[in-house]
Amino acid sequence: MLKVENLQVSYGHREAVHNVSLRVEEGEIVTLVGSNGAGKTTTLKAISGLLRASGGTVSFDGERIDRLAPHQVIERGVVHVPEGRLLFPEMTVLEHLELGALRGRPGSMGFAERLRWVYDLFPVLAERHAQKAGTMSGGQQQMVAIARGLMANPKCLMLDEPSLGLAPIMVDTLADTIKSLHASGITVLLVEQRVDLALRLADRAYVLETGRVVMEEAAHTLLADPRIKTAYLGL
Ligand code: ATP
Repeated sequence: MLKVENLQVSYGHREAVHNVSLRVEEGEIVTLVGSNGAGKTTTLKAISGLLRASGGTVSFDGERIDRLAPHQVIERGVVHVPEGRLLFPEMTVLEHLELGALRGRPGSMGFAERLRWVYDLFPVLAERHAQKAGTMSGGQQQMVAIARGLMANPKCLMLDEPSLGLAPIMVDTLADTIKSLHASGITVLLVEQRVDLALRLADRAYVLETGRVVMEEAAHTLLADPRIKTAYLGL
């Protein structure tokens, strides 16, 4: 479904991602793991069109998307929920959801129906639809960010560090949310600092190191790999 081949991305003259290739099949949860600065966020930004690749290709459903503008990538069904949530503190929950729906992938559900679906997934957002995002807890803000992405009707949802700053109990809720999104038919590409969490949720994983893919494995294999445990799980 999503295919990245020999992706190169630079910041100025400095190349941060070197020849990264990966694929995400329909219905999978795939995770990118690796230490800070490994190039995970940069890879997601290049897929979603927020950064221009200097080399390589990104295709989605057989179509090249690496020269499209970010809103065109969203319209194809690839939606990026960025690290740090990037909410507008003065805007309400509902206003964020309206924004998310502005440039979505056309689908069978209208705005009202989609909103109901999102509120069913996150009942607290229905209760707090008129609350300003800036006054909500970290966990609730993460729900707003994911819900905003869902309003665009994604086929493939890319989540960047969704557990960042969440209390442990909220991390469990987040894991359940990702599972139910996946069960509803959404394909997931997950970047996550909590490697144990990522590997428990994912089917397959790519390990990135200094801008390169150094390993691709079934997630359960990596979870059982002592090298990964030492290098990334701190076990
Ligand atoms: P993190 O978990 O810390 O976000 P990451 O694996 O997502 O790590 P990236 O953020 O993609 O890594 O960073 C890859 C490399 O690109 C790093 O060396 C980083 O310093 C560099 N980099 C990231 N953003 C920029 C930027 N805006 N300008 C210049 N260099 C950047």
